[in-house]
Amino acid sequence: MPTIVQKFGGTSVADSAKILAAARKAIRAQKDGNRVVMVVSAMGKNTDLLIGLAREITEEPPAREMDMLLSTGEQVSVALMAMAVDSLGHEAISLTGAQIGIVTDSTHTKARIRSISTERMQKALDEGKIVIAAGFQGVDEAKNITTLGRGGSDTTAVALAAVLAAGACEIHTDVDGVYTTDPRVVPEARRVGRISYDEMLELASAGAGVMHSRSIEFAKKFSVPIHVRSSFSDNPGTMITAEPESHDQPVCGAAMVKNEARVTVLNVPDRPGAAMTVFSRIAAKHVAMDMIVQNIAEDGIADISFTVPRDDLPTTLGAVEEAVRQLGAGGYSYDEDESKISVVGLGMATQPGVAQRMFRALAAKGINILLITTSEIKISVLVAREHAQEALRTVHEAFALDREPPAALVAAEPAAEAPKAEAAVDMAARLEGMEDLIIGGVSLDQSQARVTVVGVPDTPGLAAEIFEQIAADGIVVDMIVQSVGREGHANLSFTIPQENLDKSLHLAAELSKRLGCQTPTSCPEVAKLSVSGIGMRSHTGVARRMFQSLADAGINVDMISTSEVRVNVVVDGAQGPRALAVLQKELEELIV
Ligand code: ADP
Ligand code: ASP
Ligand code: MG
Repeated sequence: MPTIVQKFGGTSVADSAKILAAARKAIRAQKDGNRVVMVVSAMGKNTDLLIGLAREITEEPPAREMDMLLSTGEQVSVALMAMAVDSLGHEAISLTGAQIGIVTDSTHTKARIRSISTERMQKALDEGKIVIAAGFQGVDEAKNITTLGRGGSDTTAVALAAVLAAGACEIHTDVDGVYTTDPRVVPEARRVGRISYDEMLELASAGAGVMHSRSIEFAKKFSVPIHVRSSFSDNPGTMITAEPESHDQPVCGAAMVKNEARVTVLNVPDRPGAAMTVFSRIAAKHVAMDMIVQNIAEDGIADISFTVPRDDLPTTLGAVEEAVRQLGAGGYSYDEDESKISVVGLGMATQPGVAQRMFRALAAKGINILLITTSEIKISVLVAREHAQEALRTVHEAFALDREPPAALVAAEPAAEAPKAEAAVDMAARLEGMEDLIIGGVSLDQSQARVTVVGVPDTPGLAAEIFEQIAADGIVVDMIVQSVGREGHANLSFTIPQENLDKSLHLAAELSKRLGCQTPTSCPEVAKLSVSGIGMRSHTGVARRMFQSLADAGINVDMISTSEVRVNVVVDGAQGPRALAVLQKELEELIV
């Protein structure tokens, strides 16, 4: 008999009527011939209320006690859910994370799953019971209660689906699927029939709150198809699988992180290891940096900009001050009222003009771009927070995301994509260190060249203009990095195929002359090194190790871009093979 995991989020169990409705859904799935595991979140805004209570007592509650407190939210809802199933005449058993045997590491408030035992769940399922599992929680080796981070019930659900080799993992929530962007912010957003793991991962980390990003890492790693759907209707929902909705469309969705703060360390001496000093000081304070932009240095100095969640700004500035002193850098600047807008799509890697379309649309609304970073399948820009909502709406419209793409693949029935139940032996082996970091490999691309436009006036529309001309010539731009404007000027670097260098440089030179900028610089052969993997962002430290090992080998990093599944660095072409060897050696034990 197939197993199905059904997860119900907070709003879907906010009151007794909703709990009963969810129980009926599970009973229906059981009647349809499934063994049913429900994963349930805390009711409504309960987790927020508990956090508020803790804050009334102390500004800095001990993390262990925070987990003890927050886990009660889910314990309430599983008990009520089991009562609901029982009242409807069916058998159920509620289980906490500890009772299931979800073992995590000891990182309180953002613990990672190490292993899950299936015996107790299997036994209850064999007895015909509906198993009701508390989401978001586990226990460490010493039996301390842990939680997986906000939104973590999604991760519990996908992890249970993986260990039980379930045919389907349904995420029941208050929207009827994954939309092209948050439908609460942009009402024109369209529900997508399907979306690929990689796209969903990038969207989730770019701010699409509909799925916990670690749940998608899991789903990808264990090939669990996810079906996101409404708790309140039987609408078809969205399938998250390996396949995208369409192979032709450049962009599948847009997202926003509203509260970002930007810090720029000025006049950093351009020598190996300088960036490392900044990053390691910040990492030591457990602050996760988001957009990291180090632009090409002029006259031996570079600026390093990055964003952090606004709440982490005070801690970050403390670390930055230390780094500035140590490096003898020229000081720093910051702004705490900025937002990040991103577009994501597998198709952008092969189509020219995607960046240009985004930049042009923003320029047309007079919205200035403060930073740009790109990865293979994502373009992110930083804008002033007052423009965030309009910017999101604008890019959504620019890519016609409200319309179904041509040649959209129809979402397949979840059952048709179910992974084959694995032999017990394989499964057990796979479940060791479930959330461990996996590095797929390090690759070297020596086919690109770099152009830097120096001293671009920092006004709306200039990035658009540059990339419009390049795209008009059919040139596919790979990495783009725009540093923050200094005294009203910014530097804009990008990489292109080597055979397009002359043309691109010519276009850049003409434009520079017209704009009164300095002569553009270029490098005819750069080496781009990419480290790809799963869990690279949530396991902080991969980027740090990369930069450290390159610095130790005396290799200078020219450009950096990071995404959920990749860290890219650009170094001088002649250093490529050596940089590859350095990184392979450094990351050896993590590569599978
Ligand atoms: P749950 O409590 O069920 O886990 P969440 O609040 O975590 O629900 O996630 C659902 C919410 O995510 C929606 O109400 C919606 O506002 C928001 N959201 C953000 N981005 C998207 C998107 N791209 N598609 C759908 N919903 C989104
Ligand atoms: N209750 C937890 C939270 O609000 C976990 C979840 O809902 O996924 O973050
Ligand atoms: Mg959620």
